[in-house]
Amino acid sequence: MSGAVSYERARDHLGRLKMEGALLALDDVLERGQKEERLPVEVLDNLLEREVNTRFEKRVRTNLTLSGLPVQKRLEDFDYDAQAQVPRDVIEELSTLRFLHNGENVLFLGPCGVGKTHLAIGLALKAIERGHRVYFLTLHDLVTKSRVARERNRLARIISTILRADLFVLDELGFQPLEPGDATFLFEAINKRYQHQKSTIVTSNKSFGQWGDTFPDTTLAVALLDRLLHHATTVNIRGESYRLKNRREAGLIGALSLSANEAGTPKSG
Ligand code: ADP
Ligand code: MG
Repeated sequence: MSGAVSYERARDHLGRLKMEGALLALDDVLERGQKEERLPVEVLDNLLEREVNTRFEKRVRTNLTLSGLPVQKRLEDFDYDAQAQVPRDVIEELSTLRFLHNGENVLFLGPCGVGKTHLAIGLALKAIERGHRVYFLTLHDLVTKSRVARERNRLARIISTILRADLFVLDELGFQPLEPGDATFLFEAINKRYQHQKSTIVTSNKSFGQWGDTFPDTTLAVALLDRLLHHATTVNIRGESYRLKNRREAGLIGALSLSANEAGTPKSG
């Protein structure tokens, strides 16, 4: 068989096998292989590597779309000087994703605007970039979705969506009081993840002691905390809202904002 025929057949095979990355890289890889006098097996290795890389990038893009992240916030953009309460070494340790591989949880607690969601999303992005599946929901979304699902007898489906994610992010726990059905659903979701040793990140404006207030009964709040805290890193942020701080420093608002913010500071957990 001539080289030209083999080349055409190789292209055709790659196309049929849906190896888009390899197909796109074929000319480049063959050319370089020839120029650098590579062994056939090295050329093959290069070609497959390009395919693997392309697939991984595609998976990352898909996982990002499916994650439901509301915005992209990077850990690299987090200003530690502005928020002395956030221990840089702890965040850097978390960003290795060891917690995810160990099925541990992360809890960010603190008043509004101190960077809880930013840090949770930053970690979620790290996980996505390394090929993990992430599912992000605010508590409000979780409640809305579960109510719709309950009406349609599809609660099992939403639980399995939450369970399937390598990392589940539950944002804004404590922002709204939970009705019994919602609280039970939340417990079930977290408990399932706990049983399967899968990581969850929770952000809350309430200290642990105040969680009971947003639950219809304290037993459920305690049971939820028990699951979440069994293997967990808790980051308590007692600082001032980042945006308010910036504006205050720019002289746009006075001391008023400070005292309002402090009123929402949770007791230590
Ligand atoms: P929270 O979830 O605690 O209410 P957010 O994470 O939503 O607060 O932060 C509010 C805004 O301020 C976001 O745009 C976030 O990116 C920004 N922000 C907060 N803290 C910092 C920080 N230390 N460095 C950079 N941006 C910050
Ligand atoms: Mg938030």
